[in-house]
Amino acid sequence: MKAPGLKKAEFQPCAFCGNPVGNAGLQFYRVTTTLHAFDDDAIRRVANLEAATGSPALASRLTGDEPLSVPAYTTTRLVCGDCGLQPQVIAALLED
Ligand SMILES: [Zn+2]
Repeated sequence: MKAPGLKKAEFQPCAFCGNPVGNAGLQFYRVTTTLHAFDDDAIRRVANLEAATGSPALASRLTGDEPLSVPAYTTTRLVCGDCGLQPQVIAALLED
């Protein structure tokens, strides 16, 4: 999937080091993270249907492959090319 390019107003400092994302070179990352929570009701419905039919495949067809999680919130940040290569960046972005 190819995301659209950023317009001037969409540029932000690097979420990790705070420098302009262009300082580290010509490439940077646009990182989108989504926190999900398990949907207990949906999981219970699928489990009950699996138990009732005795077939996970049939239960999946009957529920229409229902999502089993609910997105809580999504954030999108820019990360400069240098910081994007640091493994702790992902953990730091998920903490916020
Ligand atoms: Zn950075």
